[in-house]
Amino acid sequence: MECQIGVIAGDGIGPEIVTEARKVLDRVGSKYGHSFHYTDILMGGCSIDATGVPLTDEAIAAAKASDAVLMGSIGGNTSTSPWYKLPPDKRPEAGLLKLRKSLNLFANLRPAYLYEELKAACPLRDDIIGSGFDMMIMRELTGGLYFGERKTETVDGVVTATDTLTYSETEIRRIAKRGFDIAMKRRKKVTSVDKANVLDSSRLWRKIVEEVAKDYPEVTYEHMLVDNCAMQLVKDPKQFDVILTENMFGDILSDEASMVTGSIGMLSSASLNDTKFGLYEPSGGSAPDIAGKGIANPIATILSAAMMLRYSFDLDKEADAIESAVKQVLKEGYRTIDIMPQAGESTEGITKVGTARMGDLIAERV
Ligand code: NAD
Repeated sequence: MECQIGVIAGDGIGPEIVTEARKVLDRVGSKYGHSFHYTDILMGGCSIDATGVPLTDEAIAAAKASDAVLMGSIGGNTSTSPWYKLPPDKRPEAGLLKLRKSLNLFANLRPAYLYEELKAACPLRDDIIGSGFDMMIMRELTGGLYFGERKTETVDGVVTATDTLTYSETEIRRIAKRGFDIAMKRRKKVTSVDKANVLDSSRLWRKIVEEVAKDYPEVTYEHMLVDNCAMQLVKDPKQFDVILTENMFGDILSDEASMVTGSIGMLSSASLNDTKFGLYEPSGGSAPDIAGKGIANPIATILSAAMMLRYSFDLDKEADAIESAVKQVLKEGYRTIDIMPQAGESTEGITKVGTARMGDLIAERV
């Protein structure tokens, strides 16, 4: 298979972690007979330095011309970097928002997977964790409360702020379909999360999800109220496969779910539109405090590349190979600094490695 991949290395640790993901992709390419062609795309602080803006029209065109985009991270130290003296719409993050909008990326996917070897980083009790959990939070990204009309006004002498939560059946249907498609590639269970006991937008959400579910007879689905879901995530996270939800609920639940898995350096993510195109990136930021030191954890970016293979290119076997290689490396005791055992835990059989070595070890085991 021939794949055109746009690569946004970005700022801070971005170039370091993206280099390792490319190393692993190249290994997959040579082992399974695929050609991955890369186009470098400037975005974020490095684009500001080179062009004066965080994202140029040429960069958007290059992203659109790619089959998928793999990204490191953008931004710098928000207190000291000159990028943050610029007006908000000229700062590094404005580039990412503009790119998401230009590519119509309405579905955000964040897996929350607990590795046996990193169980100690999970704040939940052993009896709750059991043999671990593996879920995917699917969040609608371009509608709802964050994009509705808002205003602050004085009503009868009292300052009053209003935000509106709007969803159309079209917006709900396209994210629901995506959610059920993803479930078909996993354990075939969807938990649709809403607040249908109170909100009209949630009642419509529930109705449309039920309609979409009819096209996926193999997928089991259930509805759950968001307040209950927040509790269930810490009470019994094993019950979830795909959690499908709207923008604000997803924002909160995805952070809660990722917190129970431990390190930020392990968390991949994807943002998809209604074609096979996706933007794949680690959930963490550009970590300016450790940039250039060769110690950043590249695993989240490598796992994002695996998601790209699975969801944009339908290369499930190859994605499995990367995920197994990551598990193997952890099992063999290799750790970057952020996932080293904490004080008081045993370091027997553990070897501390840097960014490039971690990339090599994973590539070798693909
Ligand atoms: P951050 O995620 O960059 O760092 C938080 C902490 O986690 C730091 O101590 C950092 O060293 C550590 N960390 C993050 N990724 C790591 C990795 N792969 N390996 C080891 N340790 C890792 O968050 P921040 O410091 O709040 O933000 C720094 C910059 O990143 C800001 O400019 C912010 O706007 C930007 N940011 C970008 C994105 C993105 O590109 N999508 C996301 C979040 C933050």
